[in-house]
Amino acid sequence: MAPHDRDFGHSGRGGRGGDRGGDDRRGGGGGGNRFGGGGGGGDYHGIRNGRVEKRRDDRGGGNRFGGGGGFGDRRGGGGGGSQDLPMRPVDFSNLAPFKKNFYQEHPNVANRSPYEVQRYREEQEITVRGQVPNPIQDFSEVHLPDYVMKEIRRQGYKAPTAIQAQGWPIAMSGSNFVGIAKTGSGKTLGYILPAIVHINNQQPLQRGDGPIALVLAPTRELAQQIQQVATEFGSSSYVRNTCVFGGAPKGGQMRDLQRGCEIVIATPGRLIDFLSAGSTNLKRCTYLVLDEADRMLDMGFEPQIRKIVSQIRPDRQTLMWSATWPKEVKQLAEDFLGNYIQINIGSLELSANHNIRQVVDVCDEFSKEEKLKTLLSDIYDTSESPGKIIIFVETKRRVDNLVRFIRSFGVRCGAIHGDKSQSERDFVLREFRSGKSNILVATDVAARGLDPTTTTEPNHQRASFFLSSGWRKAACKVLTGWPGP
Ligand code: ADP
Ligand code: MG
Repeated sequence: MAPHDRDFGHSGRGGRGGDRGGDDRRGGGGGGNRFGGGGGGGDYHGIRNGRVEKRRDDRGGGNRFGGGGGFGDRRGGGGGGSQDLPMRPVDFSNLAPFKKNFYQEHPNVANRSPYEVQRYREEQEITVRGQVPNPIQDFSEVHLPDYVMKEIRRQGYKAPTAIQAQGWPIAMSGSNFVGIAKTGSGKTLGYILPAIVHINNQQPLQRGDGPIALVLAPTRELAQQIQQVATEFGSSSYVRNTCVFGGAPKGGQMRDLQRGCEIVIATPGRLIDFLSAGSTNLKRCTYLVLDEADRMLDMGFEPQIRKIVSQIRPDRQTLMWSATWPKEVKQLAEDFLGNYIQINIGSLELSANHNIRQVVDVCDEFSKEEKLKTLLSDIYDTSESPGKIIIFVETKRRVDNLVRFIRSFGVRCGAIHGDKSQSERDFVLREFRSGKSNILVATDVAARGLDPTTTTEPNHQRASFFLSSGWRKAACKVLTGWPGP
């Protein structure tokens, strides 16, 4: 059996498939049994020489990609009209003092020579701006509570990632900082661990208190992923968390908020709804995280973010994270963080991941569908382990068209865009992560932050772009290093 049988084999395990029986996400018609049936090796040839290939000739009047589709609907997880809701101004006089510096430098770290520190930073591509404590180089060099260390061991982490090594000493000192590092560099733990330490050093929550740590994130998928980390590392220390995001019923989220949670992870629009309704408040909030700040600005969340931050005491600790550093993000940092430390991991430029082979094909609009089909066939024909495929398109309508097109070959494939309900989005991501479906078609709601270790297979990464001529300029911008047509 070829290795990638395994991927499709999952989907063939009869029992598990039953939980969503009859769902229209299953490949349609005859294709269904290719993935949904008894599993096993026989399915493989079907895919390899499968209908993706066979149907090549009979697609006469097939469902071609729809024309333009417009640009207006590309914002996926946006916050609706929440920014217009009124918000009570907060009185920041007579605030109770709180502690935010808990950092005790380990003797190993304190005694390291400037030369050694510099060498480590160079090795890890860490650049710092401002007065910065030495990075730690091992988990034992930072005083973490036992339950946190236990979880680190349970996860099998060998050493802190660069952003954690340099970020923890700063965050635990109570400083404001901006961390710029690409997706997959371990940023989540970079702010969740210090959050837990921060929380454990504050007065316990009283009835009616809002969160001590607030994490703002652009999409619900990302928020839920952050929640998972908060739960794994926080639950044994009784740090409660909840996740609030739009598109899901408010009842459960509201009950969690009212019951009291030390960490709240939120998308901006839904949090504003709750704040305006008085379901929670930010009076106790002393630790603020803006995750994927650039993406939140891209999605038009700036007014909501400003509104939320206006409710939080100004002497809070603020950590901001971003994969890129455009001037809008810098402006936000200046407004919210005042005198901040900045650390960058890797280059300041937005650059493509070098492990990914990029192929650009500028073609005419109507040949895209054919090209995609050929590409998919090639991937399944030439690769022993084709792994998972994510196809990004500009508009929601195109996502739907393309999914229909791919499913017409009997191949299972999921769709994510802003019009999909939360449960649909959750379901599709789960299927994709578990390998029940190996193709995902999405708008840029899914573009960033989804954990690469669970969504893609690291050794088989390539990217192909089918761009119609109108997109040449955009392509040059996106693909650093590509000289352009
Ligand atoms: P980012 O937010 O920078 O995109 P994540 O926080 O989502 O990255 O982490 C990416 C992956 O790295 C996750 O699967 C996480 O469990 C893993 N990870 C985090 N810290 C470490 C570490 N110190 N060692 C190994 N893996 C880690
Ligand atoms: Mg992240």
